[in-house]
Amino acid sequence: MERKLPEGIKAALVDMDGVLYDSMPFHANAWHQLFTDLGVTTSNPDEYYLYEGMTGADTIGMILKRELNQDTTLEERKALYAKKSELFRNCGEKKLMPGAADMLNALKGKGLNTVLVTGSAQSSLLDGIEKDYPGFFPRERRVTALDVKNGKPHPEPYLRGLEKAGVSPHEAIVIENAPLGVRSGKAAGCFTIAVTTGPIPASVFEKEGADMIFPDMITFAKWLKTI
Ligand code: MG
Repeated sequence: MERKLPEGIKAALVDMDGVLYDSMPFHANAWHQLFTDLGVTTSNPDEYYLYEGMTGADTIGMILKRELNQDTTLEERKALYAKKSELFRNCGEKKLMPGAADMLNALKGKGLNTVLVTGSAQSSLLDGIEKDYPGFFPRERRVTALDVKNGKPHPEPYLRGLEKAGVSPHEAIVIENAPLGVRSGKAAGCFTIAVTTGPIPASVFEKEGADMIFPDMITFAKWLKTI
């Protein structure tokens, strides 16, 4: 497959978990622990990679309805999400994704503006992003779960990202590691690149319409430097 970016790209809309941080194993474990504590016995940590990008409240509502036929209020979902966030923090030190800094520097070298577009509201990561990736994601160039009504796979997060970048969909690329994130990027009209940093096979990203698929961030960053 010949790999080529479209002409006229001005901005890169960059997801956070599984792209900038190797945080998905912690998220998956935190979700698994939360739902096990609530009496969900069918839970498997790998399942939660599939829901990455959805807001925490949406994931909680979906799993509790499906597994326990339980309806929850928004207040209850918020309280459970706070508990999940605490479980996540207790998983250990955050880890940067190997290759992510090189990827951002390569994008900057091509003159692209970078905007963070995450379905997360995890303050333990968001608060550190300026220190971990200085200059790439100032506050005015971030879209988090707190800024949108609809989480991924709805196009809203990436549409908001386009607004913050001040570009149209054909002038931006999306960088994602999650199937629902790829669906969101494509629905927003962007050229969407999947980097498979977790256990989900490339075929799932093909089905979601990813325009390019890379096996890991180091490979993607190296490729960016060659074009
Ligand atoms: Mg992600």
